[in-house]
Amino acid sequence: MLPGVMLKSRSKYVSFYAMKAGFMAPAVEASNFPCRLCGTQAMPYHYSLGNQGQFKYYKCPDCKLVNYDLRGGLDQEQYNTIFVDPTDDNEKFNLDKDQSFDFINRWVPHRGSFLDVGCGMGRLMYLAKRAGWQVKGLEMSAHMAVLVSEKLEIEVAVGDFLQGDAFPGEQFDLVVLRHVIEHMPDSLEAIRQLGRLTRPGGYLLLEMPNIEAWDKRFKRFLVRHGVHQRKFSDNFLPGHCNEFCRESMQRLMEESGFQMLRWETYSMKPISNFIYKRLHVGNKARMLARKRIS
Ligand SMILES: [Zn+2]
Repeated sequence: MLPGVMLKSRSKYVSFYAMKAGFMAPAVEASNFPCRLCGTQAMPYHYSLGNQGQFKYYKCPDCKLVNYDLRGGLDQEQYNTIFVDPTDDNEKFNLDKDQSFDFINRWVPHRGSFLDVGCGMGRLMYLAKRAGWQVKGLEMSAHMAVLVSEKLEIEVAVGDFLQGDAFPGEQFDLVVLRHVIEHMPDSLEAIRQLGRLTRPGGYLLLEMPNIEAWDKRFKRFLVRHGVHQRKFSDNFLPGHCNEFCRESMQRLMEESGFQMLRWETYSMKPISNFIYKRLHVGNKARMLARKRIS
């Protein structure tokens, strides 16, 4: 041990020399903005993205939400590009929706009215309609809404669910939002809007990344100890405002009038999917909640 270096654990020892050698950024101070889910102040630094580590994330010690410091800037580009036939059972792009629908079949007990928020190319609506649900969709792209609506003969409204003006006065037995919630700065307001569209006792299915996946935890460990450095493109900007795990998602549901019933992680690879459904360590998650009756 070098004089003046009081390090108790091997990991701290490695950290010290990695930092000294310039592999790691020095410790970053706590956040100067509150947690966007529970309001906790001064959250500890968790990790950063970007070649200079300029995009910083803070993990709330209370609700466990990982909050991105939005002042770093956001990439909110839409991901949809080409139209894929939602009725094609052999199309690879449709596979993840097929898996979502299997989940619905397993865990939602009754068929009824179904709203797919951000329905995209409509594969999930196609499967639901074929199975006897009364299906509607909401889509921000007017072009996509027309294509899907004509192809599937399903009503697809054009709009943003956050505006609160879609399907006025209408409530559904099941509302689905896939891989959108992590892009919303105010996730509480987003779930309140989905709650407006869900009947009391109705179900909400969300899909999102799982920030506590084993591969993400391992990469963060390697970066923290200077073993791995991810390369980012020059124009990289984060797309996610908030990163969820089971605990923070449960808190979000409780705060917005829902009860979380199930949390599963998943993969498109069959063997990984078998493991992730049981061990909850995969990097994509799906969650089923039920809206409280009173
Ligand atoms: Zn919090």
